[in-house]
Amino acid sequence: MKLSEIGEFGFIDRFSGKFSALNKNEEYGIGDDCAIMSLDDQYNQIVTTDLLIEDIHFLRSAITPFDLGYKALAVNLSDIAAMGGTPTASFLSIALPAETEVEYMDQVMEGYRSLSEKYQVPLLGGDTTKSPDKIVINVCVTGKVKKGKEKLRSAADNDDCICVTGPLGDSAGGLKMLLDGISPDEMTKNLISWHNRPEPAINEGIWLGNQKGVNAMMDISDGIASDLKHILDMSGKGAIVHLEDIPLSPALQSTLKNKEQDVLKLALTGGEDYRLLVTVRNEDFEELEKEYNHQFLTSLTRVGKITAENAGEIRWMKENKPFTLDKEGFNHFSE
Ligand SMILES: [Mg+2]
Repeated sequence: MKLSEIGEFGFIDRFSGKFSALNKNEEYGIGDDCAIMSLDDQYNQIVTTDLLIEDIHFLRSAITPFDLGYKALAVNLSDIAAMGGTPTASFLSIALPAETEVEYMDQVMEGYRSLSEKYQVPLLGGDTTKSPDKIVINVCVTGKVKKGKEKLRSAADNDDCICVTGPLGDSAGGLKMLLDGISPDEMTKNLISWHNRPEPAINEGIWLGNQKGVNAMMDISDGIASDLKHILDMSGKGAIVHLEDIPLSPALQSTLKNKEQDVLKLALTGGEDYRLLVTVRNEDFEELEKEYNHQFLTSLTRVGKITAENAGEIRWMKENKPFTLDKEGFNHFSE
């Protein structure tokens, strides 16, 4: 059997259960944005790790070395944000071809350092080794969260509002422009910069984690069509999502304004948004939305609701009529 037949998640399912018997105490993991371990009486430690491979996750010709370093850390910080946690340290392992320019790597590390400084996350270790011809970057980030305040994918409840913390599809729109060789204008250059230098929602995650009525939370890395299904599977719930409520930036709409379907597809399945996907108790939503929009630059937008029926399924609606998607999310092993 080939990996492409079962996909990334099918592969993880083949072994994750065999390790769960070893989780003896309060450890929690495989299957959420971070693993959780007890740190002390007050706090839990959370840990995440992510791998970037040249030509699969990035093209050297399409991202500056500064942005590459920034993004390698940002995608990990985003998983800390998804738990409502505060990052505490990072570890960086890199495999490099011997002919890599030192000045190139200086810039990679400068990008990594600038984001580390922004959120005051020290780099505490890692590994460097030789690679035959591609750059491979692995980052591990630790964080902490008050016991009981960690936001899990399994906590969605019936009638929760499904919300996102910013417009979707910008990163995918930027990637499409890079791949199609479209030169950006004043407006659409933001799409490319969001793709290459996404901003982790650390402050938003910490804030949301402390609010009343916030149930499940995760970050949108593969596209909401795929990521929302993880919340549904782990919570044993279904969802209705209204496509006209999916927030789209003016920049994304301007790139492809005559092809509404294409824009929607980028927003639902493009991935690498690194916005937060949150479920909020219905009665707390209005107050939370008001307060959130007062605190942050992007809006908290309601896109649908959690249902008791149709567990594991997203029912897409457009102007209150059912709508079928032809491709769900992004699968790392499929063609
Ligand atoms: Mg995640």
